[in-house]
Amino acid sequence: MSYSEKVLEQLKQKNSSEPEFIQAATEVLESLQPVLDKHPEYEAASLLERLVEPERQIMFRVPWVDDNGKVQVNRGFRVQYNSAIGPYKGGLRLHPSVNLGIIKFLGFEQIFKNSLTGLPIGGGKGGSDFDPKGKSDREVMAFCQSFMTELYRHIGADTDVPAGDIGTGAREIGFMYGQYKRIRDCYEGVLTGKGLTWGGSLVRTEATGYGLVYFANEMLKEKGTDFAGKTVVVSGSGNVAIYATEKVHQLGGKVVALSDSNGWIYDEEGIDLAAVKEIKEVKRGRIKEYLQYRLNAKYTEGKGIWSVKCDVALPCATQNELLIDDAKMLVANGCKVVAEGANMPTTLDATKYLQENGVYFAPGKASNAGGVATSALEMSQNSQRLSWTFEEVDAKLHDIMVNIYKSASAAADEYGAQVGGNKNLVLGANVAGFLKVADAMMAQGIV
Ligand code: NDP
Repeated sequence: MSYSEKVLEQLKQKNSSEPEFIQAATEVLESLQPVLDKHPEYEAASLLERLVEPERQIMFRVPWVDDNGKVQVNRGFRVQYNSAIGPYKGGLRLHPSVNLGIIKFLGFEQIFKNSLTGLPIGGGKGGSDFDPKGKSDREVMAFCQSFMTELYRHIGADTDVPAGDIGTGAREIGFMYGQYKRIRDCYEGVLTGKGLTWGGSLVRTEATGYGLVYFANEMLKEKGTDFAGKTVVVSGSGNVAIYATEKVHQLGGKVVALSDSNGWIYDEEGIDLAAVKEIKEVKRGRIKEYLQYRLNAKYTEGKGIWSVKCDVALPCATQNELLIDDAKMLVANGCKVVAEGANMPTTLDATKYLQENGVYFAPGKASNAGGVATSALEMSQNSQRLSWTFEEVDAKLHDIMVNIYKSASAAADEYGAQVGGNKNLVLGANVAGFLKVADAMMAQGIV
């Protein structure tokens, strides 16, 4: 049994109730074996055993009072996974599906993603099983204040810098930042995704979606083409999906479908993004309401968005939303590029099927790293007490995404990783992200 297989076996035994974490770890560990063969010193230092175990996991009670005067109790999490190359950095997810295994999978992915950005940030993730959907602003504030009343003691500008994720947008970051400042009496860049008048960075809102499309454009260039005239399907209709759609349209492509957890819309003429922004960013409504804006659009309840014919697919909703049957439909309909905007939206078997059938595939830890990269740029601006212009930040984001593409594809080349006639960017991203963290861990001794 190889070193990576041994570690994976132990990990499965110890974490048997955490399927998403096992899935994420399997993908990474399976691709690292060629590197481990080249560097026997990693096994001698039990590097993988240390890498898969979070440095610290924090779980806490979050009590708050709802609008009916009833006490509600949620569970809060922060997993501080790896600080070898910088302070822990990663978002806070607020969704009823959140549990320790989900946060661990996200934190584990974050280590490699953050390393790939080339910026000095370690990996972490957090959140709660609180559902902001359908809550009043006052209830969301009560929750966020209670959440931060425990979390504040574990984070700080040089320790751990959380950010947004599913369910945590500008409103939630505002409430959490206000409470942190009040308790700590300290105005520091402890959260990213802040408002522009109080320490936020231009382009942070757009960063993950824009970055995803910059990355996918490099993939298309490799195949001798670009977004102009391409038909694109994007799942989700949240932060990542909206700004991916905006950038695809700017580059001359046409997004024809979007979704939410209830269903999906199809608009043959191309999605009217102003309408989607009004529904999702202003009214906090459902994607079905799009039919009120565009009479010729179609709405389908439930799953099925991947049955829409497209050249490029960008899954931007949540984990495990693109399954093997979806992969088969995409291939049968001639899709050539899949780049993940969400974290782990594609299951392992669906990824394999896409790759082996000629689809050029990018894993989220590479293609959605634009959000955290821009968060790190927000941290730099906070430390300098300066704000950069939109153009400056966007240019840096673009360069970072091109560089991530280059390092993942160079690592794929170095290890001869080709699949279905394309570079294996899953292996490339895992290897490139891993090496920097591994070097730092080796240099810092047994910690
Ligand atoms: P949002 O909360 O803004 O949007 C999430 C979207 O996905 C919504 O349209 C939501 O629909 C849909 N969705 C959520 N859960 C499900 C589900 N179980 N089934 C179907 N649809 C679902 O989140 P973001 O756009 O910020 O995040 C999307 C993904 O991108 C996540 O995987 C996140 O971890 C990842 N990501 C986000 C980054 C960021 O900067 N925001 C950075 C890097 C990765 P509904 O409203 O109905 O719930």
